[in-house]
Amino acid sequence: MAQAQAGNSELVDSFEQFFRNYYDNEIKQLAQQYPNEQRSLHVDWQDLYRYDPDLADDFLNQPEQLQRYAEEALRLYDLPIDVSLGQAHVRVRNLPETESPEIREIRSPDMNTLVEVRGIVRKATDVRPKIEDAAFECQLCGTLTRVPQSSGDFQEPHECQGCERQGPFQVNFDQSEFVDSQKLRIQESPEGLRGGETPQSLDVHVEDDITGEVTPGDHVSATGVLRLEQQGDGQDKSPVFDFYMEGMSVEIEEEQFEDMNITDEDKKEIYNISNRDDVYEQMIGSIAPSIYGYDQEKLAMILQLFSGVTKQLPDGSRIRGDLHMLLIGDPGTGKSQMLGYIQNIAPRSVYTSGKGSSSAGLTAAAVRDDFGDGQQWTLEAGALVLADQGIAAVDELDKMRPEDRSAMHEALEQQKISVSKAGINATLKSRCSLLGAANPKYGRFDQYEPIGEQIDLEPALISRFDLIFTVTDQPDEEKDKNLAEHILTTNYAGELTTQREQMTSLEVSNDEIDEMTEQVDPEIDAELLRKYIAFAKQNCHPRMTEAAREAIRDFYVDLRSKGTDEDAPVPVTARKLEALVRLSEASARVRLSDTVEESDANRVIEIVRSCLQDIGVD
Ligand code: ADP
Ligand code: MG
Repeated sequence: MAQAQAGNSELVDSFEQFFRNYYDNEIKQLAQQYPNEQRSLHVDWQDLYRYDPDLADDFLNQPEQLQRYAEEALRLYDLPIDVSLGQAHVRVRNLPETESPEIREIRSPDMNTLVEVRGIVRKATDVRPKIEDAAFECQLCGTLTRVPQSSGDFQEPHECQGCERQGPFQVNFDQSEFVDSQKLRIQESPEGLRGGETPQSLDVHVEDDITGEVTPGDHVSATGVLRLEQQGDGQDKSPVFDFYMEGMSVEIEEEQFEDMNITDEDKKEIYNISNRDDVYEQMIGSIAPSIYGYDQEKLAMILQLFSGVTKQLPDGSRIRGDLHMLLIGDPGTGKSQMLGYIQNIAPRSVYTSGKGSSSAGLTAAAVRDDFGDGQQWTLEAGALVLADQGIAAVDELDKMRPEDRSAMHEALEQQKISVSKAGINATLKSRCSLLGAANPKYGRFDQYEPIGEQIDLEPALISRFDLIFTVTDQPDEEKDKNLAEHILTTNYAGELTTQREQMTSLEVSNDEIDEMTEQVDPEIDAELLRKYIAFAKQNCHPRMTEAAREAIRDFYVDLRSKGTDEDAPVPVTARKLEALVRLSEASARVRLSDTVEESDANRVIEIVRSCLQDIGVD
């Protein structure tokens, strides 16, 4: 290990002083647990800054050297017990705002500096030993030749240090030094992205005691040094480089939406809206206003955004509060548009297609690919994991991959995904709500066949949806006229707004444009609605009143007594009962109410009844 260079003993002294003032207890604890339970001293950069701003700034710009001095100081630290912290690491974290760029903002001047990035772990390889210092044994004379291995290719000795011949050599494992290594890919969190931007990612290489600590789907902040890696290999080397991070510290972040920053002013507005008699109409008018009609579907989307209350039962089991819903119907009926709109409102959401844009698809996958250099297994999180604690909007759900179909059962009900393959045994969290869209079996509904039989998903999966809406595209003069009017106005308003922005001559007054755009403006501004939802979910845990309970019970018993067919494509099971509870809790949350009233129960009974009728369950 590196020694402090002469002339820099001042810096080592300075770190020693810092440790004495700020980390004495932590170091004593480290000494007791070293090396089996703990091998690192975690240092808060803010402490270093308070101790010496210059030293702290140097740490940001020359992390490699400064970390060496800090570790030297740790080695020299006066300890009450006789241990040597020979290989202990100093791991700095909690950098200032200026050194915490978004992943997409990283630029070449950031190279070799210390930065902290936040995001979600998308992929993680399994943990494997990596050789750091290889001892080559000459097969001719037996002499050991040591070659330190830096990152990159495996380096063999040019010649034997004993007989000066070119080998052959064999690696002597006992005499070599290994360190655990793992590679992570961290992707920008879905809540930081607006308007469907593609998330960017950064690979992080971690070693020793910080390997194996995170799982795909975890929200983390990673601190480390940015390095470059050349793209392409062999003959095809490119002048363009990729960034990766040499990880110094990786911490799991609490998944809260606290950075939502809800002001007192916002709260006043939220309470005002919640007290309005037409609060539900206001909400419906705030979802995809450019899409005409679909009031019930939009109300259901609102309920999904607010969600029911997740319950932990005394026996250790758990009932999800998240609602899953499915829009199934003819093409060109606005399903994709509505799904896409969720991204504007949901505090956290992921939009994808059933076909999946990544190898992990909708759930998760364990693969052996380039990410692990073809040697290590990689576990990759799919859409339902990345959407943990949010909404997964999945278009073309009927086209999902066969692997996802079976994994979906667990994902939707238990809200976790178990992967067990090769060296990987993991459980990923997927506590999300699924908003799916699908086409019927033959692409569009055949009006001579029962609708229920044209849903191309197996009953076990279907029964996990709290609501299933069917959308048929039948000509209807009155409706078609209104729809045409709505779409034409929307388009015209959009056209005029574009022209106004480009300052071209207008035949219409600004007031008229504003009037027209008003029709497609959401009732509640998307930003405020986002805060409203986050506020309601954090503060409001409604309980059933007796009247609500009775209404739901009666409806359910009535539904079952109608002799539901066990083979029906959409069976009425006890899951429906739980769905009714969740939906009515969500309905109460919209009003910020702590109790679920009979009116909430009736509101959701009406939706459930109409969905079932459409499918052919009476
Ligand atoms: P789907 O996903 O159901 O096949 P899309 O969401 O792609 O259909 O919709 C096709 C187009 O028709 C979109 O441009 C959409 O805006 C428009 N459209 C369909 N139905 C409506 C509607 N009810 N109101 C407004 N526009 C609609
Ligand atoms: Mg579509």
